Amino acid sequence: MIIVMRDGAPKAEVEHVIDRIRELGYTPHPIFGKQRTVIGAIGDERGKFRLESLASMPGVESVMPILKPYKLVGRELKRESTVVAIDGHTVGGKEFMLVAGPCSVESREQILATAKAVRKAGAQYLRGGAFKPRSSPYSFQGMEEDGLKLLREASEVTGLKIVTEVITPKDVPLVVEYADVLQVGARNMTNYALLRDLGRIQKPVMLKRGMAATIQDLLMSAEYIASEGNLDIILCERGIRTFETATRNTLDLSAVPLIREWSNLPVIVDPSHGTGMRGLVGRMSKAAVAAGADGLMIEVHPNPETAFSDGAQSLLPDEFAALAKELKKYLKLEGRTL
Ligand code: PEP
Ligand code: MN
Repeated sequence: MIIVMRDGAPKAEVEHVIDRIRELGYTPHPIFGKQRTVIGAIGDERGKFRLESLASMPGVESVMPILKPYKLVGRELKRESTVVAIDGHTVGGKEFMLVAGPCSVESREQILATAKAVRKAGAQYLRGGAFKPRSSPYSFQGMEEDGLKLLREASEVTGLKIVTEVITPKDVPLVVEYADVLQVGARNMTNYALLRDLGRIQKPVMLKRGMAATIQDLLMSAEYIASEGNLDIILCERGIRTFETATRNTLDLSAVPLIREWSNLPVIVDPSHGTGMRGLVGRMSKAAVAAGADGLMIEVHPNPETAFSDGAQSLLPDEFAALAKELKKYLKLEGRTL
């Protein structure tokens, strides 16, 4: 439910309403806007009619239901776009998030060379998997903690912020020590135990769309994280499975403006997994900017032929640098900066 306070309702009245929401067994989420204060009361849908009694409390203008099943990440309760702050950077505002790096961390040389190159090209974030969710149990599974240490070292050398994946709840305490943004991969989008754990950390989470997930499914997964208290969530469109087999996935760019309409969360695009083809990454990146994406995540490898994973979709550092330069023109049209 949304409890709308009267304009200029004194602080004490707002606090009384918050206390009463808690007494009724719901979690209060006050949003102090320029014009008015609204308080979301989030919890068990079954008993929500009890919250209607709040309408008679001093300072309350109205009480209304949140119609969509995603409460905290939608636009009904919180109309303003969420701007996620990441150590001197922001996502969801004017600044465009450019994440680049290899699919997997493979060696010190590989990650340092890539980090320096993508930093020079203009990326603010380095990606690289230390824990890899592979379709085959016999494929390379990642360097684990050694990989995380190399990412940290690359961050210290270049100043890049680290985006890396966590695949199981038990690894959250370890990954949170090294990452600036924790990535949830497509295969884990409905791992609700993992999502809940990530809702209790103090760092941003990048949630990728599952390969058979609808936009609403994605938002409901984001709601799992938000419901535990972490509202610093970045969504990522990375393509879905369709009958088309020419590309690895079908990159659903229409999801971008629709997510921006339905949700207050920022959304970025991963054209590398979205197409699986190096030659398509540039065009789809530009299209993503035009679609209103808040950022891009692009796989880059210094030697794609020898990559342990996803070589065919990885750009060479020079190709990435050329793309980043081109993108600046497109970003300018959209009023965005790198
Ligand atoms: C990745 O980003 O390397 C990855 C595994 O992506 P996805 O979860 O989208 O397949
Ligand atoms: Mn990959």
